[in-house]
Amino acid sequence: MARNDVDVVVVGAGFAGMYLLHELRKLGFSSRVLETGTDVGGTWYWNRYPGARCDIATTDYSYTWDPELHDEWTWSEKHAAQPEILRYAQYVAKKHDLYSGIDFEVKVEEAEWDEVAKKWHVHTSTGETITCRHYVMATGCLSVPKDPDIKGTDRYRGPVYVTGRWPHEGVDFTGQRVAVIGTGSSAIQSIPHIAEQAKELVIFQRTPNFSVPAINGPQPADRVARLKADRATYEAEAKLSMSGVPIELPTVSALGVPRETAFEMLEKSWQRGELLSLGATFMDAGTNRDANEVIAEFVRTKIRSIVKDPETAELLSPRGYPYGTKRPCMDTNYYQTFNLSHVRLVDLNTKPIRSITETGIEFGDESKEFDAIVYATGFDAMTGAIVAVDITGKDGLTLKKKWENGPLTYLGLTSVGFPNLYMITGPGSPSVLSNMMVSIEQHVEWIRDTIAKMRDEGFETIEPTPVAEEGWRQHCTDCADITLFQDTNSWYMGANVPGKPRVLFPYIGGVGRYRKICDEVIARGHLGFELKGPKNASRVDGVVREIQPDVESVLEAMALMNLPTMESMSPADARTFSEMSSTMRPPGPEVGEIVDGTLPGADGPIEYRLYRPATPGPHPIVVYYHGGGWVIGSHTSDDPLCRELCVKSDVVILSVNYRHAPEHRFPAAADDAFAALQWVAANAASLGGDPDRIAVAGWSAGGNVAAVATQLARDAGGPALRGQLLLTPAVDGSKTYPSMRENAEGYILTKALMDWFWEHYADPSDRSHPKASPLLAESLAGLPPAMIVTAQYDPLRDEGNAYAEALKAAGVPVQHLKAKGHTHTSIGMVDVLPSGKPARNEMAEALRRFFA
Ligand code: NAP
Repeated sequence: MARNDVDVVVVGAGFAGMYLLHELRKLGFSSRVLETGTDVGGTWYWNRYPGARCDIATTDYSYTWDPELHDEWTWSEKHAAQPEILRYAQYVAKKHDLYSGIDFEVKVEEAEWDEVAKKWHVHTSTGETITCRHYVMATGCLSVPKDPDIKGTDRYRGPVYVTGRWPHEGVDFTGQRVAVIGTGSSAIQSIPHIAEQAKELVIFQRTPNFSVPAINGPQPADRVARLKADRATYEAEAKLSMSGVPIELPTVSALGVPRETAFEMLEKSWQRGELLSLGATFMDAGTNRDANEVIAEFVRTKIRSIVKDPETAELLSPRGYPYGTKRPCMDTNYYQTFNLSHVRLVDLNTKPIRSITETGIEFGDESKEFDAIVYATGFDAMTGAIVAVDITGKDGLTLKKKWENGPLTYLGLTSVGFPNLYMITGPGSPSVLSNMMVSIEQHVEWIRDTIAKMRDEGFETIEPTPVAEEGWRQHCTDCADITLFQDTNSWYMGANVPGKPRVLFPYIGGVGRYRKICDEVIARGHLGFELKGPKNASRVDGVVREIQPDVESVLEAMALMNLPTMESMSPADARTFSEMSSTMRPPGPEVGEIVDGTLPGADGPIEYRLYRPATPGPHPIVVYYHGGGWVIGSHTSDDPLCRELCVKSDVVILSVNYRHAPEHRFPAAADDAFAALQWVAANAASLGGDPDRIAVAGWSAGGNVAAVATQLARDAGGPALRGQLLLTPAVDGSKTYPSMRENAEGYILTKALMDWFWEHYADPSDRSHPKASPLLAESLAGLPPAMIVTAQYDPLRDEGNAYAEALKAAGVPVQHLKAKGHTHTSIGMVDVLPSGKPARNEMAEALRRFFA
């Protein structure tokens, strides 16, 4: 095959391009690897600024595909420096004869898809056009330095250095007056070194960063021992971990322990000298702002304890954005550097740069001369290097145009309209939120296996489907929505480059989950892809993940616990089990007052719990019926949800302990529900409520009796109700809906459990009675407005949907929320699953509207 007509063109000879070349050769594919630099190493070739080191312990930042390397190469330090990592890349390249497959000093300028030949034409800076079946961008996530975006940069006549393009021969700053602009990772690593040489060093800071000490030294003995003992298990754990480094997952909330204990725990993490340690101290650091603030304050106390000048310490202290939402930095003596008399910090918020001049910098009301300026101003991250090449796909569509409002990819690997184009660690993959080595190897292997399959099965092209790509965008958004990342101006969000769309560029669902998804895509016949060949075609369309990521995590954790099923227990044991589980959940918000009491049920007194807001009354009253399949639960079992509804809707919630089956079978629960409603209406004023503003609410079986009580009130001519809020209600026990089969297992409420509940509650003959199945009422006309919430992965979904439709058809105003990616139980899990919050907010809003 001609050199300019190959199976695969790979752009970039960093760790990704090198490994891919090795794999392509092994499988007999012809390839060209094109690299702008003069050597291998990618990021470690370009970033030669003083102090450049790997922030991930280098033991974890090593290739795993050549096991011999583990014996052949020993890292001299825990966090090896750039020259050593570059030597490692060169060693591997020599050992595997990779240099012979790489063209250096070649820049790829354009690439266009040829729909007739089903090939890419790649145009290079040397004037060559290379034709290839597959085109891989292995261009790295942080490879295009961003324009510093400062007035006057072209005026300066002295030497200018950019951290990401550092001179190969190094720079001697001895005796010089040096300015460093930026305080990101690159600056934080280089500043202590520049300070050692410079006569005067001024650091221009726009936003202070959180930095943890590397505590560098020899490779940690415990890690080395673990790797020696069982490397395979260690690597397997890394692949399924959150960030590509196996660390123990936290189980403690930063808010669940006293501040002193929290700080002791953080001190231990700090002393570990690992990039991920601080953030991994608490389970809620990434999702709860208050929890995150504990870490932020800990770092600020550290800064205050190191930096002697309190004003400088305060300026260096990050405030106003959560820890981890800008990439945390790792340093050796960064904060200590500010104790040196020739080092000065300038806060650009109070002293903005007016202009760079021919000889220095004008800032605030000052003007200073410098012998050198260092720009540590960052990169056009994630997409910069990809769209720097003019890539034109099908129908003349350019990738740049397609990504105008944010990158659209399937799995961060491929994009609709660009067949046979692959991105290694592209946007929408864990990439920069992971140990890059683990993510690089995974992508290389995924691409290798995919193109090998195509060759073996006679396919010429592969392209994701629009459904799969949109589904992936939504899943990435779902993952991002439950984190604290969105409000921070970070390069993760594209905020450092003016005009760049504001989305979270990397996938934040975790390395392990991502890997499982990619594997699943292949196992399901390349789900979400269309593959075509001259003689055959395959299209398995669909969305690979619709479940909310936090819901999935809870389901996975529960599956690991291997708990007995409730239907295998006696009702008494099931109740004890359920009560025990409830003791472990967060309590929900504080309310003004809680009052426990009894009220006359249909056949004797029943208990209730009243939640009163802290605001002055009288308040509307919502009579609430708990979930638990008519068998388990009580007036206190939905405590967190009742509290939250009380606070958010500013209403009194009165939760009723209606009688339970099997001791009290149908229609005891329904009769109690109605009796409670009548009693509340008659006693509203003495309960501190407004008798004219009463509504009902209920979850699951509680939704069932709430709906029934509403119908009974209508039929009895009162009490008059303002609304009904039904959360994943059971409304028809007379037949099996498709969702009961679809979601029969795996989502906590199972078909078997629902059958068990019905068996205990009502005879089959009774289940057609509207007091058991309110959907079957003769008429639904004249019922109060309803808010109905159904969940995608709930066996009861379709009957809830049917009730919403039937109410609408009967002329009842209905707000119907179909909670995507949720289960029967997930929406009500207050302070456990952030993804349920929007639905609960809408529920609270609906209650307010009922009474408006
Ligand atoms: P960065 O984190 O984007 O930092 C750029 C710095 O320049 C920020 O402090 C930024 O301020 C400032 N800046 C940008 N434009 C400016 C302007 N016009 N005026 C004033 N200040 C300006 O870039 P980086 O330090 O090169 O690091 C980028 C990423 O590379 C890191 O986050 C990390 O992922 C990776 N990295 C890794 C290592 C490692 O593993 N060893 C080392 C270095 C870098 P704002 O914050 O206000 O935008």
